[in-house]
Amino acid sequence: MNLHDFPRTCLGFFPTPVVELARLSKLLGGPKIFMKRDDLTGLAMGGNKTRKLEYLLGDALSQGCDAIITAGAAQSNHCRQTAAAAAKLGMECHLLLGGEAPERPSGNLLLDQIFGCHIHWTGEHRKGEDIPEIFEELLAAQKRPYIVPYGGSNEFGALAFAEAAHELEAQAKGRNFSHIVFASSSGGTQAGLMLGRKMLGKTYQVVGINIDKEEAGELPFNRQILSLANRAARLVGLEQEFSARELILNSDYLGGGYAVIGDLENEAIAMTARTEGVLLDPVYTGRAMGGLIQMIRSGEISRDARVLFWHTGGTPSLFAYANGLDLAWHTGEKLPPTAR
Ligand SMILES: *Cc1c(COP(=O)(O)O)cnc(C)c1O
Repeated sequence: MNLHDFPRTCLGFFPTPVVELARLSKLLGGPKIFMKRDDLTGLAMGGNKTRKLEYLLGDALSQGCDAIITAGAAQSNHCRQTAAAAAKLGMECHLLLGGEAPERPSGNLLLDQIFGCHIHWTGEHRKGEDIPEIFEELLAAQKRPYIVPYGGSNEFGALAFAEAAHELEAQAKGRNFSHIVFASSSGGTQAGLMLGRKMLGKTYQVVGINIDKEEAGELPFNRQILSLANRAARLVGLEQEFSARELILNSDYLGGGYAVIGDLENEAIAMTARTEGVLLDPVYTGRAMGGLIQMIRSGEISRDARVLFWHTGGTPSLFAYANGLDLAWHTGEKLPPTAR
């Protein structure tokens, strides 16, 4: 099947802009850097999940479903975009969030509540563990529930990013990108970009920056991403399997672990804000940009490269993590004089 033959619903504004980050590039003495602004997908403060949800909820609607269930962390950007999409489509939305309810909601969680979704706190349970129970309850209430996978990452979510690679190609205007760099977590973005690259016959490197450690007993991330890419490839009738060699998942920048903000993230957020007026988030895009900055400094990405940084969103979580930011970076004290 062709990418356009799958059910899809319209949730965002596409294409998202591609801009050049000339001042950041100059500050680093580095290669040309471009940015794909998926923080501007337009749904409820934007982000990469909007693309996936167009395919996932398109599938849900085509099956006649009227309620959505998904799971994530308390500050999940995926859950926030799902809550907004469900509101727009008039569907009931159930979010299963890890941990306990905080005294005062902020960031993504505040927005989840504004969108009127049902929040179920899952305490110590593993992500998604309580989904079957909610599913059964909704069935018993004569609803037709649809489960959106963690991070929106199944083969339909990946298709959205194969489509996004085509969108980028139409905007590239002969700029020959050498690397596409982005934050990778549940893997749909990376699997989709790998598929799009193959469909288009491009040679750029698709470089995912891993932002989270693997949990014991989980399938390793690289195996999950390859499996996703292969399943999505079969949907569009691509015969070749992806090999492990085609997958670049960089785990050098995990720092203190998921959502632990260190110098890497603080510096990347401060430098990008001060040179380009663009906001990154501390959990995903700040870590990925920090990784890119290190790869440029170390020469792993050379000065004659042409890098596209895919901004995957996450901006609302800046407010929720405000107390974790080291203000000395953001007031400029820790930045090099050229960046203040
Ligand atoms: C979900 C998310 C990612 C990771 O995308 P995956 O497809 O889950 O790998 C990156 N950045 C932000 C801001 C996200 O919300």
